[in-house]
Amino acid sequence: QVENAQPVIRQLDDAAINRIAAGEVVERPASAVKELVENAIDAGARRIEIAIADGGKTLIRVTDDGCGITPDQLPLALSRHATSKIDGSDLLNIHSFGFRGEALPSLGAVGRLTITSRAAGAEAAQIAVAGGAMEAVKPAALNRGTIVELRDLFFATPARLKFMRTDRAETQAINDVVKRLAMAEPFIGFTLRDVSGGGEGRVTFRADPESGDLFDALHGRLARILGAEFADNALKIDAERDGFMLTGYAALPTYSRGSAVAQFLFVNGRPVKDKLLVGALRGAYFDFLSRDRHPAAALFIECDPHLVDVNVHPAKSEVRFRDPGLVRGLIVSALRNALSGAGHRASTTVAD
Ligand code: ADP
Ligand code: MG
Repeated sequence: QVENAQPVIRQLDDAAINRIAAGEVVERPASAVKELVENAIDAGARRIEIAIADGGKTLIRVTDDGCGITPDQLPLALSRHATSKIDGSDLLNIHSFGFRGEALPSLGAVGRLTITSRAAGAEAAQIAVAGGAMEAVKPAALNRGTIVELRDLFFATPARLKFMRTDRAETQAINDVVKRLAMAEPFIGFTLRDVSGGGEGRVTFRADPESGDLFDALHGRLARILGAEFADNALKIDAERDGFMLTGYAALPTYSRGSAVAQFLFVNGRPVKDKLLVGALRGAYFDFLSRDRHPAAALFIECDPHLVDVNVHPAKSEVRFRDPGLVRGLIVSALRNALSGAGHRASTTVAD
């Protein structure tokens, strides 16, 4: 290396670009699980099975009964910015979880990824990529749907590997991700299995597809995930304002929690961690709860995709509303109505 040499600008190769992108898209095993399960949901799956080993560090396998991928499309699924979900002409009109076409190439750049898939009317096929090196498509045996297997996440990026937390912590994060997605999709069955050490493993979460109308299904699913006590203490929320629908269940103030652990917010089916929404929830319960208590709720906002931007962050957990005031007003008034209707007076007027 010559000192003071003139810097040379070079185009990075795909493997390097994917590895850099992976740093944003795949923070930890739970983010990989999220991407893979969202893909299965986008594929129209009715049942999704997830197997993990060692906190997802050595193995994440997601099996679905969705639409599958034809053999000729498998290399594209692993290509950067290739997606079947949008055509790029209208980035504000997004109806699927995915749209960036980044998850699979990112995962294939930092781990060992194998996709086995069979689409209706096509042969089953398999493709593998490890550390960004893609192999040729080969025939496989599978009845229907897709199996995506990710081994040795971050083996190709040792720096990231060092930031991995304990198996227990990563397993917990995966559990949380699966439960959140399962809340938003009560008609889909989910199974999460820990297969550390090999064998059949141990089922750590299971939710069969719920039936009935949306509220029945959601109530059943929330009882499954948050427990019967939440479900028994939950008020049905069903409100609408200027094209925004708010549905879900919010717990009576008596079922409040010491922290915000039981707050689940979704925008167009997407689990979000959004300051505006959390603030609105807090505001709605303001008169009903003391300051150190936190409401419990699972709330779903649905709106025309044009009214919200989900493209704020690669993990898509933040959103921007065109009219934040409107959304806040809807949440506060709908929850207050429900709480007042349930006969709960302000905590300031009730002796504890
Ligand atoms: P995105 O979800 O943003 O489109 P991904 O990299 O996650 O990008 O996936 C790329 C493409 O691979 C998807 O657009 C989809 O066509 C296909 N795909 C991925 N996972 C599945 C799956 N489980 N079933 C069917 N197709 C899938
Ligand atoms: Mg995706």
